[in-house]
Amino acid sequence: MHQQNPHCINTADIIWQTDDLGQAVPISSMFGDVYFSKTDGLAESRYVFLQHNQLAQRFSTLADYETFTIGEIGFGTGLNILATWQLWQQVRPDNHSRLHIITTEKFPLCQTDLQRALDCWQELTPLAKQLLANYPPPLAGCHRLNFFADRLTLDIWLGDATDSLAQITGNSHINAWFLDGFAPACNHELWAEQLFQQLQRLSGENTTLSTFSVASVVKHGLTHHGFSVKKVKGFGKKREMLTAVFLANIQENLPIELNKKPQYIHKYPRKTKTIQPSFTLPTLSDNTKKLSIAIVGAGVAGLSCAYALAMRGHKITLIDKTAPLAEASGNPRAFLAPKLTSLQRMTTNLHAIGYLAGSRFYQNLAKQSNLAIFQQTGCLDLLSHNRIELSEVNDFPMAFAQLRSATQAENLAGVPTGEAIFLEKAGLIHTQNFAKAVLTEKNIQFIQDELLDFYQQNHHVILNFTHQSHQVFDHVIICTALDTCQFLPNIRPFNYSRGQVSWFAISSNHLLPKLPLKYGGYCTCFDENKQAYFLMGASFVRDTLDTTAKEADHLMNIETLKEAVPELANNLNVSTSWHGRAGLRSQTVDYLPLVGQVGSANSRVWTFSALGSKGYAYAPICSELLAGLICGEILPLGKNMLERLYPNRKSVTKKI
Ligand code: SAM
Repeated sequence: MHQQNPHCINTADIIWQTDDLGQAVPISSMFGDVYFSKTDGLAESRYVFLQHNQLAQRFSTLADYETFTIGEIGFGTGLNILATWQLWQQVRPDNHSRLHIITTEKFPLCQTDLQRALDCWQELTPLAKQLLANYPPPLAGCHRLNFFADRLTLDIWLGDATDSLAQITGNSHINAWFLDGFAPACNHELWAEQLFQQLQRLSGENTTLSTFSVASVVKHGLTHHGFSVKKVKGFGKKREMLTAVFLANIQENLPIELNKKPQYIHKYPRKTKTIQPSFTLPTLSDNTKKLSIAIVGAGVAGLSCAYALAMRGHKITLIDKTAPLAEASGNPRAFLAPKLTSLQRMTTNLHAIGYLAGSRFYQNLAKQSNLAIFQQTGCLDLLSHNRIELSEVNDFPMAFAQLRSATQAENLAGVPTGEAIFLEKAGLIHTQNFAKAVLTEKNIQFIQDELLDFYQQNHHVILNFTHQSHQVFDHVIICTALDTCQFLPNIRPFNYSRGQVSWFAISSNHLLPKLPLKYGGYCTCFDENKQAYFLMGASFVRDTLDTTAKEADHLMNIETLKEAVPELANNLNVSTSWHGRAGLRSQTVDYLPLVGQVGSANSRVWTFSALGSKGYAYAPICSELLAGLICGEILPLGKNMLERLYPNRKSVTKKI
């Protein structure tokens, strides 16, 4: 029998019970408790959580560029969140304020149960639909859902609430808590000292809190951790509930004190004697105003950072010496599929995290821009580069990865592939449409020019270009792949290799795969201007800066395909006219990109670079991280991951 992997997230075991009104309501078989009140769950949610945190009044008075952050224990059916979202739509001011909700869930409902539970609330249907379309598969870690049109970010942390909260960091605190994790009588493990420590760590002055539970363990836990607690009348026939306000400001990490360091002027390139390797949060104080931000490099990194910051209402100038997507990220199609790794390494595997965030991001961008940006084809991983045991595939949720026998895989692919893993959310990105969608955003201006150098002066950065006179910005983000090391001399030179994709027009007499295949390389069909093409990627030639397309690289791509699927490779018509496009992958010694602030905590210089061949997977989540760092938000990745991406980390920096 298959052993349960301790890293698996178990979905909730729901029993549907019919209430007095004939409505089916969800009950947790594990906790023996209801998710929402049988009589009027929505009214109760509004009373306990929205009203007792004074959300209507607090939302409506948010200043421009202010973010209100809510923390929830127990996402459950998402009812509290949807009620909050609806209220936000009704009362939010017409400015650039934002709502950020951070919720935790150890036993997420499966998609079908969630749909059924939310069907109870007709007035929430439009919001429920959006939530369901973005609902993550049950994999541990933070799943960031952005609803940009509503200025709402929802982070769903799957896993134990206390463990999740312990990973959270950022230059902000929770403004209101919803403690909704089943009462201590049926869930005593949750209400431990460590949970209250985290509530304290993440609270700030005047953080409010509400909960159904009036159990003494809750009252005492909160009181001992800086909250002033009050019993108030409960909803309907319920006698009482708890509200609390955080008074003590005994903080560990959050928020950190602002602007303690003296102002300074320095030139880039500059000399530094000591390098601070461990992750430090920025100490910038002007993130509640409209920022003007220069982003240098208009590849996938620069474009996605531009988008993340423009969606927060900031003014972005995107600069490239050539054109958007002129280099490595401009292949006709980018292939989005995860690098499989065992479940216990998933939360530290940026590629898998990025892939999940990316498949949501590109689909939403497509919807919002009305452009064909993402085609969710699914794909088959042919296990050529086996990084996991086949038995481990059964640990993954079906929506993430499913093992297919040789026969099943062949039926899917239309070509013999052998045993393979089906990855449902994989797909193809139309790179030019992606760039077009980003560049039509009103807050983004593209300028073609070459950056010569730049320096920080007090609260600004001054950039010098070849053509324009110098320009002044609040921040600069360097996204120039290999050239990054020229601008940031503390960074060790990246390793690099040429990658070439090869493609040719196809006709119906070719043997073709019905969906993308992933092996040492990858192959896929795609359509462009009513013509079908077959594409293979991507060759690997170390230490060359030559990006002219080469016959030798076409042959390399065919060879790699031949090793994985000989029937397909042998059928290719090598005499047809081939197209090729080569770009340089740049990579750090530890293979992870650089994401964050360069230099000291009050530096206004940032980078997102060295994305290797994983640019389209890394870009959406890393851009959210960078935007969150610049804007002083709670971040979408855990502390350990931030350290591993920190541009000042030892492995990627040098002393000069
Ligand atoms: N807020 C939810 C809603 O709006 O539908 C209802 C939450 S339900 C009352 C309690 C939730 O807490 C359940 O979904 C349960 O799985 C979750 N939970 C229980 N223990 C937990 C823990 N240790 N960490 C995270 N979530 C937990």
